[in-house]
Amino acid sequence: MRLTPQQLDRHRRHILLKEVGGPGVQKLRAASVSIIGAGALGGPCAMYLAAAGVGAIEIWDDDTVERSNLQRQVQFTDADVGHSKSERLAARLRAADPDLTITAIPCRFAPGETPTGAILIDASDNFETRFALNRLAHASRRPLVSGAASGWTGQVSVFASGIRPGAPCYQCWVPEVPPTAEACDEVGVAGPVTGLTGSAMALEALKLITGAGEPLIGRLLLIDGLSGAARTLNLKQDQQCPVCKV
Ligand SMILES: [Zn+2]
Repeated sequence: MRLTPQQLDRHRRHILLKEVGGPGVQKLRAASVSIIGAGALGGPCAMYLAAAGVGAIEIWDDDTVERSNLQRQVQFTDADVGHSKSERLAARLRAADPDLTITAIPCRFAPGETPTGAILIDASDNFETRFALNRLAHASRRPLVSGAASGWTGQVSVFASGIRPGAPCYQCWVPEVPPTAEACDEVGVAGPVTGLTGSAMALEALKLITGAGEPLIGRLLLIDGLSGAARTLNLKQDQQCPVCKV
């Protein structure tokens, strides 16, 4: 896929990176991702991937924009309140780059659904969706970029159990719904922490697509907004995992 003069201009700052370059931008334009969740993580993640020229982006979300979302879901404006999140985010991405193929799917992801992206991105806010997406990613041998944010902390990892032998899946890390699981409308979340987390998810997808650097496979990035610190933990495959060890 040759880049047009406009695309060379648009992506110049990525082309200047030796780990991306022209071939990396061509890979980005040929890539496809499915983002599950068009909220506080999916918004920044999708906007950075569209800006990077990811050719096909699918956005799944059955919610509508509420005024209380605007504190962190900066992809939306006051005029979007009451409208479909997936459709409004898709319109935002099309406006960023009309060459991209952007598909809004205003449905809730559930087992049996078939996202088409070669990379799955979990920007959802509930464990039912996270477990179902993890099973799909493992069974269909696709990488899963996973993120979560709550309070002042964010976490990001890449699960590649169906692709890389010995790599853990999401359920190796979180075997069951934690007893302390609370939705962010019950505990609150610092808006910029969701931006950091969603941007880190876009960065992991960009690395997977271009081959730059080391994706967070088998590692969890923890961002602590209050202390201003970030660290990574190693994750291990669970030898009893019902998803990736059967
Ligand atoms: Zn597993």
